[in-house]
Amino acid sequence: MGQTVLVTGGSGYIGSHACVALLEAGHTVIVLDNLSNSSEIALQRVHQICARAPLFIHADIRDAAALAAVFEAHEVDAVMHFAGLKAVGESVTMPLSYYDNNVTGSLVLLQAMEAAGVNNIVFSSSATVYGDPASVPIGENSPLNPTSPYGWTKMMVERVLTDWQHADAGRSVALLRYFNPVGAHPSGLIGEDPRGFPNNLMPFISQVAVGERDKLHVFGDDYATLDGTGVRDYIHVLDLVDGHLKALDFVAAKPGLHTINLGTGQGVSVLQMVAAFEQASGRQIPYAVVARRPGDIAQCWADPARARHLLQWEAQRDLTQMCADSWRWQQGNPCGYR
Ligand code: NAD
Ligand code: UDP
Repeated sequence: MGQTVLVTGGSGYIGSHACVALLEAGHTVIVLDNLSNSSEIALQRVHQICARAPLFIHADIRDAAALAAVFEAHEVDAVMHFAGLKAVGESVTMPLSYYDNNVTGSLVLLQAMEAAGVNNIVFSSSATVYGDPASVPIGENSPLNPTSPYGWTKMMVERVLTDWQHADAGRSVALLRYFNPVGAHPSGLIGEDPRGFPNNLMPFISQVAVGERDKLHVFGDDYATLDGTGVRDYIHVLDLVDGHLKALDFVAAKPGLHTINLGTGQGVSVLQMVAAFEQASGRQIPYAVVARRPGDIAQCWADPARARHLLQWEAQRDLTQMCADSWRWQQGNPCGYR
């Protein structure tokens, strides 16, 4: 049966893809976003893809009155909580903004949910809570050891949600720890649109391929990995949002606290990603090896067994499709939504 889902951060990269999946599955979607890192055009594109639109509320999750009004006006069944700031480097220089947006914002949201009696939430956490892992693959019981203010905000919100769930057995919380989301909707209408200089590998490679940037800087080739470059678990954003839909049903069926990795279980190096993107795009990706990026870890990939077991979910899309879909989005929208 369709649920009414409040999607915070719903006009962002992952949130907009979640809106498509939710609408296609027959849910009613309310997006609340302050547009600090996104464009309303993303929601117009969601409308174009689904022939149905989410309701959009331009507001901040720290605005208690705006949240109360949403819960007053709509019978919300569950919240998908994507809203937050996410740039690791920026979190080091602007820690207070990160704690305010991500931690205070989540507290204000939970207070409004509690006042309205909304018990179910699916939260965007991150593999960054594991820090530099002692071993791979990383299971959910691995030690938590964030290495940036951003990572600490995710760990703190996980803690708050854990205590909130423990206070009332009727509440249901999914803490979804994402590995590295990449790719775009196959329509090429929505995708990742970083503002300014892209911090992440895939948007940077895409911008090199489309001619916006000269070359990729490969941050170090002297790690203890197969080719010396950093290894990550890249997951197609459509697989990621499929995992969210499964988690939404699961929290509705099973009140409790559910901590779940969303990754493929496969590690891919920077140079393997470059080769896959060249293949998918037919373009050459010039690159230069430079120094390691401070704070980077050598390798990180998920043990996705719990997601398979609890959610009957497994990533379906391979690296070729991740690159092909990122490329289609980048080629069709060389300046993103602008
Ligand atoms: P994004 O920046 O594209 O989306 C976040 C959205 O939240 C944006 O639309 C932004 O405008 C909105 N927002 C930010 N602060 C807000 C506030 N105070 N009130 C209302 N709206 C606010 O990022 P994304 O890649 O879609 O990430 C979504 C979530 O997933 C984030 O919480 C992020 O930390 C988490 N996550 C992302 C990644 C990744 O690599 N993309 C990995 C792990 C976890
Ligand atoms: N990376 C790189 N050049 C870039 C951006 C990233 O070599 O311009 C490398 C980075 O060192 C890491 C991998 O690509 O090994 C993934 O980095 P990203 O920032 O996308 O994800 P994260 O490090 O946060 O997992």
